[in-house]
Amino acid sequence: QLLSSEQQRRKMHNCIQELRGNIRVYVRTRPFLPNDQTNEEPAIDVSPDGESLTILDQRNGATHDFKFDKVFPPSAGQDNVFQEVADFVQSALDGYNVCLFSYGQTGSGKTHTMQGSGNAAMRGIIPRAVEQILTQAKVLQSQKWSFNLSASFLEIYNEEIKDLLVQMSESKHPDSHKLKIKRSREGKSYVDGLTEVPIETRDSATGMQQLDALMSVAARTRSVASTKMNAQSSRSHSVFMLHLRGINEDSGTVVEGTLNLCDLAGSERLDRSGADSDAQRLRETQAINKSLSCLGDVFNALAQRASHIPYRNSTLTYLLQDCLSGDGKALMFVNLSPTSASSNESLCSLRFAQRVNQVELGKPTKNIQYNKSRKTK
Ligand code: ADP
Ligand code: MG
Repeated sequence: QLLSSEQQRRKMHNCIQELRGNIRVYVRTRPFLPNDQTNEEPAIDVSPDGESLTILDQRNGATHDFKFDKVFPPSAGQDNVFQEVADFVQSALDGYNVCLFSYGQTGSGKTHTMQGSGNAAMRGIIPRAVEQILTQAKVLQSQKWSFNLSASFLEIYNEEIKDLLVQMSESKHPDSHKLKIKRSREGKSYVDGLTEVPIETRDSATGMQQLDALMSVAARTRSVASTKMNAQSSRSHSVFMLHLRGINEDSGTVVEGTLNLCDLAGSERLDRSGADSDAQRLRETQAINKSLSCLGDVFNALAQRASHIPYRNSTLTYLLQDCLSGDGKALMFVNLSPTSASSNESLCSLRFAQRVNQVELGKPTKNIQYNKSRKTK
């Protein structure tokens, strides 16, 4: 049967993606909110082609044009956005290490994009991705695939890893706030002792309830911890991880993939005056700058095909090394605020994104083990 023109367009788009490398960059501009100044023209104009935008720099009246893999206008809903990442999510089920980032200044819509809010239509990428994977796992059951799914949720604050689901762990780690990244014998990064909460794949309603429960635990853990440390969540990165393992009953083939959904700390240049007299704030500022600039360094080194890629320079890049190397796939959302007061920060984000867009990771590899002692029926 002939493919519909939409399917053909997507197929072509995917081919182009394969040729261009593995880091896609999507830009999303949020709408004006009641707290913004509403009597102004938006500083960002998204072109109807959905791939380019023009930004007006408030300081000097200059305009700048940018082109990316995808640019979402303020009117784009959560469902429109998810449609464009669905095949990316799917590739975790096919055995790839996949990472989605949201990058941008505080208040630009990173958490809205990743997590969204409880309202069904406002749900973000995390719940939609889990739902899609559960649906697909169900379909694959008929082809004798059974999937194990589990989730972890962590926060990186001042370069340290905090387990947001430790309360749900069967063996509570005594010093859960000092988790270390290790490399497995197969050379994969993992967090030693991180809680993995199983998610039921045979019944998607149960699976989704389990997800809701763990998201509430993570949110509570996060807010208690940030109150205790007098810190704001905008100053830490959060990484939601889905571990997938599929086994085919007939062939014994095992497929392993990971989906990382990463809500980055605010990218705004932090105030160097006043607040820095406070030792904790100074440390925090340095840590955020460090990990975001390390992420930039990794992308630059990859773009230049450098022989040494500085993954180990920050917790975030070390943790996500598998996705940011030739083996993985990465997609970065750059979130923008439409206000002219934010145009300077938006321009910084867009320039960062432009560099990221030039990165090629090489051909990603699937994690598949074919069973040598293949069962004969
Ligand atoms: P960030 O995580 O980047 O600091 P948030 O995701 O918390 O920003 O967004 C800031 C505010 O803007 C929130 O109240 C959020 O609900 C709202 N918001 C962000 N993006 C959108 C959008 N696309 N549509 C409607 N509201 C949005
Ligand atoms: Mg946020």
